[in-house]
Amino acid sequence: MSLPRTLTQFVLALFVLASVALCQEPADLVVRGGAIHTVDDALGTVRALAVRDGRIVAVGGEDEVSPLIGEDTELIELDGRTVVPGFIEGHGHFLGMGEFAQVLDLTRAETWEDIVRLVAGAAEEAPAGTWIVGRGWHQEKWRRRPVPDVEGFPTHELLSSLTPDHPVSLTHASGHAAFFNRRAMELAGIDRDTAPPTGGEILHGPDGEPCGVFRETAATLVDRVRTADLSRRPPARIRADLRRAAQLAAEECLRNGVTSFQDAGTPFSQLGALEELAAEGNLPVRLWVMVRDGAGRIEREFAARRTKRAGNGYLTIDAVKLTIDGALGARGAWLLEPYADSASSTGLGRMEDLERLARFCADVRTQFCVHAIGDRANREALDVFEAVLEDREDPTGRRFRIEHAQHLSPADIPRFAELGVIAAMQGIHCTSDAPYVVARLGEGRAREGAYPWRSLLDAGAVIVNGTDAPVERIDPIASFDASVTRRAADGTRFFPEQCMTRIEALRSYTRDAAYGAFEEDVKGTLTPGKFADFVVLSQDILAVPDDEIANTKVLMTVVGGEVRYRRP
Ligand SMILES: [Zn+2]
Repeated sequence: MSLPRTLTQFVLALFVLASVALCQEPADLVVRGGAIHTVDDALGTVRALAVRDGRIVAVGGEDEVSPLIGEDTELIELDGRTVVPGFIEGHGHFLGMGEFAQVLDLTRAETWEDIVRLVAGAAEEAPAGTWIVGRGWHQEKWRRRPVPDVEGFPTHELLSSLTPDHPVSLTHASGHAAFFNRRAMELAGIDRDTAPPTGGEILHGPDGEPCGVFRETAATLVDRVRTADLSRRPPARIRADLRRAAQLAAEECLRNGVTSFQDAGTPFSQLGALEELAAEGNLPVRLWVMVRDGAGRIEREFAARRTKRAGNGYLTIDAVKLTIDGALGARGAWLLEPYADSASSTGLGRMEDLERLARFCADVRTQFCVHAIGDRANREALDVFEAVLEDREDPTGRRFRIEHAQHLSPADIPRFAELGVIAAMQGIHCTSDAPYVVARLGEGRAREGAYPWRSLLDAGAVIVNGTDAPVERIDPIASFDASVTRRAADGTRFFPEQCMTRIEALRSYTRDAAYGAFEEDVKGTLTPGKFADFVVLSQDILAVPDDEIANTKVLMTVVGGEVRYRRP
């Protein structure tokens, strides 16, 4: 049915009048006087921006936007500073980040002895029997090899002698291995004959006893004792602890200019805390959550929990996460050819639920996000995506994701664009892993397939950036810097021919990250109509010299038009 022509014109005229009237209504907030990078190709860089009811209503020159300043309009004068869209953390662990803020931070340890000292100190303060928990150690980042060592990892004796009454659990920076002391292993009933579960490995010392290091699924043999202790907390306490973790994580996001967070895997048991916070209006950053749980439970319960922009736009639960291999540092990444520094190993792969969950996600039209680091794991995921999506409507538009996509066979690089698969990669992993990537993969494989951003982008793939927080600090500036320089801490550059350009790196943190979650209609660019989520930076990350990028400070973080963080 079509309206008579004059009526159509009348309706159109009314609409135009209404929008003009709306535009002239004063803004709640106006920002002006600096470079405002909209990351919208049609708008480019502007000098002023206006917000009403949590959304952007106008961008342009100062003279175009200033008429929207009324008596009650909050005015932010940039004085030459820079605005970019709010950073979207493309792969992190929101509640894990909040929990990390409450356990021993081992990321800065320079030797194994540093860690032993920290843990022994914490044990002295805690009642006997209390678990001492730490996270973030990485043997490749220490100044010297521990003595004695097993494959470069420490053994438990020294630590155990200082912590006889406290079980100790120290998670590797990658999250794919853990270290336990004697007390923890005793409580779990581990001895020299304990067999590891599928997809896991228990490292033994020369005496044949477990040395304390448990890879991948093996870590759960010990951690389940702690998990059981935790599960005996009263439900109200569990909920309060989760809410506290969410609050701490959100504060850290805001300090770093992160306005949206793509959470890489929360189990059903923890979703309630996030749903509750969103419903109360107490989530200060926007979450997009992948559900990670058993395949059967996902099939049964996903539909009931699925939600889009609940709590006034702060909580989306609309994706499923599955992990099919481990990390490179701990030699858990699943490779097509053996490790260069461990000829007998190609890593650890787990295919059990890959096809089953891919079919489920394709059937219910939700995004499927597969953790794959090694080239074999990536190929398996792409093969299954291809087979499962092939005969469905809109096969390339489903935006299935590979989380990390860290090491790829050159043959698989074009498949990301061909299949419409999002590569959710972490710029900062490239430079922090650089010290051992060549050792693990050898020069040739590292050159052609490790963090191959340039090759992926040139082939037309969409890259979503992030930090995998708390594996790395949730610092978008550091990850942006790594993405455009690939410069490691020691100053060396890791195959710089694979660098992103500045604008590509910014897009990977904003526009493309929003696309990676089907959220480009409301996020990722400073386009009128979208959420007023943006960040004021001390300097222009698209213009300062390379060496200056890291000195950029987040001065202000605005979510939904509200200033949620101001740098003191
Ligand atoms: Zn992760």
